Amino acid sequence: MKSWRDNVRRVVPYVPGEQPNDPDMIKLNTNENPYPPSPKVEEAIRNLDCDAFRLYPDPTAHKLVSAIADYHDLKESQVFVGVGSDDVLAMAFMTFFNGDRPILFPDITYSFYDVWADLLRIPYVKVPLNQELEISCADYKQENGGVIFPNPNAPTGTALTLEEIRFILEHNRETTVIVDEAYVDFGADTALPLLKEYDNLLVVRTFSKSRSMAGMRIGYACGSEEMIRCLNDVKYSFNSYTMDMTVLEAGAASIADEDYFQETICKVQETRQWTQEQLRRLGFTLKDSSANFVFASHGECPARELFEALRQNHIYVRYFDKPRIDNYLRITIGTQKEMEKLVDFLETYLKKRKER
Ligand SMILES: *Cc1c(COP(=O)(O)O)cnc(C)c1O
Repeated sequence: MKSWRDNVRRVVPYVPGEQPNDPDMIKLNTNENPYPPSPKVEEAIRNLDCDAFRLYPDPTAHKLVSAIADYHDLKESQVFVGVGSDDVLAMAFMTFFNGDRPILFPDITYSFYDVWADLLRIPYVKVPLNQELEISCADYKQENGGVIFPNPNAPTGTALTLEEIRFILEHNRETTVIVDEAYVDFGADTALPLLKEYDNLLVVRTFSKSRSMAGMRIGYACGSEEMIRCLNDVKYSFNSYTMDMTVLEAGAASIADEDYFQETICKVQETRQWTQEQLRRLGFTLKDSSANFVFASHGECPARELFEALRQNHIYVRYFDKPRIDNYLRITIGTQKEMEKLVDFLETYLKKRKER
């Protein structure tokens, strides 16, 4: 029998990290920033005139676009904004990955890429990370319909150098290369300087991590004027009013407070350094991270066991039950105090476990 069900677009959705309703928790599972956004953001929101909410927001999001363009020394016509970088990336997949050849991305990476590709029926090939769980640039020389990778990669936290990114661009002149820089502010090289040389490069960023604004949903892309025009054509064919009035003010206010931004980044970096040292002392193996999380594996205790034990103790980290990474924990860098509690718990737990 025929049914409406035959015509459903079926997808296996992306599974976001949990947002548990637990007042006592230490939340280290979704790479949020432990510090609040700039006080200027709060001020901008306080100063909003609610009467203006009667009107539609500016469809060009000019206030935010121009703040971002100035910040990166780009033209306004080189900046596209969206509802978090997830929205920007989805638009970019729809816009640029419209060929017959498969797009390429790492086998271990942000788990939304294959979901968008499936949703939009884009063919893809997952390129395995090397033995060290790092991206090997030489593997991106094969024919493709586009390339996307995060830098630093997630959930591994390691980064490519600018020269390595240049290598990938140099061997992919004919398709779109997207660098997802969700974590770049925490200590990796940005691909932005390469925009001058490659008109097929799109750099995607977010306010969710380094700017402590995951709840506001702001993401953006920087690219050639032509690429941004293509993105906007797709956006205006889908939803023209993506950025609401609150977001435009709050986003511009965050960009305006560079001192606060740098201060927050420094705190996260210092705590990351401390956490890495402590975890190694406790028998974990981990690479130096360039992001606001670490990706660690313990020599004796399985990751899943640790994940469960931490959870029982109201400490939430991320565990991926996937081939090659099912013995790792991804732990977001919280405040120094939170990380001290994590380390104390792990130390006690591992010691007791040894005595058992
Ligand atoms: C967090 C994250 C995003 C999405 O962030 P938004 O909150 O949608 O801006 C995109 N890519 C990677 C690799 C991420 O980790």
